[in-house]
Amino acid sequence: MSSTDVVEEYVQDERDPSRSPNVPITGLMVQYYHVCKRELWFMANGIDIDRETTNIQRGTHVDETSYGTSRRSFMIDNRIQLDILDSGDVMEVKVSSALEKPARMQLLFYLWYLREIHDIDKDGVLAYPTERKRESVVLDETTTAEVESTVRGVLDVVGRDSPPQLEKKPYCGTCLYQDLCWM
Ligand code: SF4
Repeated sequence: MSSTDVVEEYVQDERDPSRSPNVPITGLMVQYYHVCKRELWFMANGIDIDRETTNIQRGTHVDETSYGTSRRSFMIDNRIQLDILDSGDVMEVKVSSALEKPARMQLLFYLWYLREIHDIDKDGVLAYPTERKRESVVLDETTTAEVESTVRGVLDVVGRDSPPQLEKKPYCGTCLYQDLCWM
């Protein structure tokens, strides 16, 4: 089966109420895939940690009152939690732009999921209120390919029998798995 088929099969499993994907992908899984594939494997294979603490340490957690008056939260399929602004854009708020790529890919995955699974076309806004910074995020040919590559990658990593090889990451110091990896 080609790698394209993996994504097509995933979409079919998500769209068909009588089927469900073997690995229901979440925004957090997408984020972890771009932070550390080993961390994604631990998380998806039942080795659990206090994610809230990790996200606070990394600056990916954000105060829920940020932009509280202009956005509404939705839970899609009991798995995809996203915020919609009055403008209709999907907003992802982060404290710091230090982990810009994981945050951008998480938001792009939400936009892709809405379009591919629910036929809803949306644009996105990535916001860093403490830095007074906003970035528009849209699905085009390039970013769609990035998301689909990520979906393939997540399915590959999660399905492995053992975690990806240990490599030092810039994020190890803020990772609660560091005791497993480095001690
Ligand atoms: S400690 Fe480092 S290598 Fe281990 S899971 Fe965390 S980020 Fe990945």
